[in-house]
Amino acid sequence: MRTRTVLITGSTSGIGLGIAHAFAAKGYNILFNGVEKNGGEIAAGVAERYQIRHLFSGADARSPQALREMVQQCVATFGSVDVLVNNAGIQHVSPVEDFPDDKWDDIIAINLSAAFHLAKAVWPVMKSQQFGRIINIASIHGLFASAFKSAYVAAKHGIVGLTKTLALEGAPFNITCNAICPGYVHTPLVEKQVQDQARAHNMSEERVMTEVFLAKQAVKSFIPMETVCAMVMLLAEDEPGTITGTALPLDGGWSAQ
Ligand code: NAD
Repeated sequence: MRTRTVLITGSTSGIGLGIAHAFAAKGYNILFNGVEKNGGEIAAGVAERYQIRHLFSGADARSPQALREMVQQCVATFGSVDVLVNNAGIQHVSPVEDFPDDKWDDIIAINLSAAFHLAKAVWPVMKSQQFGRIINIASIHGLFASAFKSAYVAAKHGIVGLTKTLALEGAPFNITCNAICPGYVHTPLVEKQVQDQARAHNMSEERVMTEVFLAKQAVKSFIPMETVCAMVMLLAEDEPGTITGTALPLDGGWSAQ
C-alpha cells in the first residue's frame, strides 16, 4: 500500500503535535501547520526523529485562500490527503457583554470555519480515491456549555454539526467524519487559562486545576494526550468505515452527569 498522508492543523503545539507524533510513528507523510514562530523547526524535528516525509505550512486558519493553498501544496507534494485532522483552535474567556467582537470572529474562523474550508478543499481528492478520514478535534464544549465561553462553545457545537453533515455526504465515497470531544488535556492552551483564572480568582494554579477545571469531570485528572491520540489513530484506519458522524466524549465522566 502507498504511504498515507495526513494534514493536521495546529500541529506545532499541544494536542496537534501529539497527534503528529502518533502518525509519524506509523510512517505517514505529514503536512504540519501552525502559527508558532518555530513551527518549521518543530515539524522538521518530528520528521527527523521518525524518518518521514513532511511539509510545514504557516497558513493562517482565518484565511480560506491560505487553507486552500495548503491543501494544494500537500497534494502537489504527496499526491493526496488521506486523513485531515482539524485541530487548530484558540480560546477566549469573557462574560458575553464584554466579549470582544474580534475574538468572536477569530474563534469562529479558526475553530469552525477553517474545518469547513479544508473539508471542502480535500473533498474532491478523497472522493476520487474512495477513501478519506476527517477527524475534528472538538471538545466536551461541543456537547455542553460553560459560562463565559460563548464563542468557543458556539464554534465547538458548530463543528459537531458539521461533522454529522460531512458524515452523511461522505458515506457513499468511504469518507468518514468524526469529532472527538475531550475534557481537559494539559496543553499550552489550558496552561494559559489556568494562569488567567488563578490571577482572576487570586487562587493557586493547583487549586484552579482541581476546583475549577476538573470540577465537572468525575475523574479528577487531565485527559492523557495518549488517549486522544489512540482515538484519532483508530478513526484514521481503514476498518472502522462504519464509525461516522459521531461526537465521541473523552471526558472523565463529564457527560455522564
Ligand atoms: P495549543 O494552544 O497547544 O495549540 C493550538 C494550535 O493551533 C497551535 O499549533 C497553534 O499554532 C494553532 N493555531 C492557533 N491559531 C491559529 C491560526 N490562526 N492558524 C493556524 N493555526 C493556528 O492548544 P491545544 O490545547 O493543543 O488545542 C488543540 C485543539 O484541541 C483545539 O481545537 C482545542 O479547542 C481542542 N481542545 C483542547 C482541550 C484542552 O484541554 N487542551 C480540550 C478539548 C479540546
